[in-house]
Amino acid sequence: MVHGTTILDIIENGILIVDRELSIRFWNNWLVTHTGIAKEEAQGNKLTALFPDTSFSLLKRKVKIALRLNSSTFANSSVEEYIVPISLKKITKSIFRHMRQDVVITPLNDTEVSIIIYDATPILEAKSIIDDQLLLMEKQATTDALTQCYNRKMFNDLLAAEVKTANRYNRTFSVIIFDIDNFKSVNDIYGHLVGDEVIKAVASLAKESIRQCDVFARWGGEEFIFLLPETAVTGAATLANKVRSKIAGHDFGTPGHKTCSFGVAQYSPQEKIKSLLNNADRALYYAKNHGKDQVAINVAGNITTFSP
Ligand code: GH3
Ligand code: MG
Ligand code: MG
Repeated sequence: MVHGTTILDIIENGILIVDRELSIRFWNNWLVTHTGIAKEEAQGNKLTALFPDTSFSLLKRKVKIALRLNSSTFANSSVEEYIVPISLKKITKSIFRHMRQDVVITPLNDTEVSIIIYDATPILEAKSIIDDQLLLMEKQATTDALTQCYNRKMFNDLLAAEVKTANRYNRTFSVIIFDIDNFKSVNDIYGHLVGDEVIKAVASLAKESIRQCDVFARWGGEEFIFLLPETAVTGAATLANKVRSKIAGHDFGTPGHKTCSFGVAQYSPQEKIKSLLNNADRALYYAKNHGKDQVAINVAGNITTFSP
């Protein structure tokens, strides 16, 4: 026993022996170091008395199971929990307040179990960092960095999904492409940073105008695109005109007022995505060539300026 105790005391894990009421029979040096509770104070005392704020309900249940089945059981601390509360503040800088633990509970006889505590903090910290990074990468892959809108790739994915839905359930939808008028002059006169601010402001003005189910993305440069599910061309043109007039009425500060031109097209059953986007693009081109600051609609190749 003397030798056994020595080994249990030099090992780099927490080891304690308890009965089913969690009365402590043995408390190793690792636990003394990490909890600040001396052997004399721990041994003969209950875990619940040493840590009155901790319920130990999971541990109690696991100890009972181990004794009843006469076999080892395992427990681990989920993100917010711990098995035995060991504060990490003094030992190491961590994103967790308490040491995350894996615990093995092994029956020694009819009434006692040994509990071996493994520090799972480093691996869970690494997992948490990786999870955060994955989340960030996912966001970056779908979001335009300047405007925080969806990017072109995300828009294309959502558009492809919408085409499937439309074909399957015989529904329609529309797209609006719009482009800031004479934007190059903003960069040329006031510089790129002011240009960037205009792009950002246009994006938020447009985003404000749509419903939850609508999609809005930066299509490229100073061009944006909407996808409006269950919306025919007239409804889409009405929304486009609302956005147009909102942007035209906005004071962008240093560069003053700016306008945009809009091209609208409705999806026809079984149409190719390329053809739909091309139809909207041709309407936009028409709006640009007919005085800008306007909405043009493309209905079966027939392009006209929309007047509400
Ligand atoms: P139009 O009315 O025909 O659309 O003319 P425009 O000047 O708006 O169009 P043009 O295609 O000649 O110029 C677009 C400019 O947008 C050129 C490009 O440098 C600028 N641009 C594209 N992306 C960005 C960006 O992220 N930031 C800034 N500041 N400028 C950008
Ligand atoms: Mg432009
Ligand atoms: Mg452009």
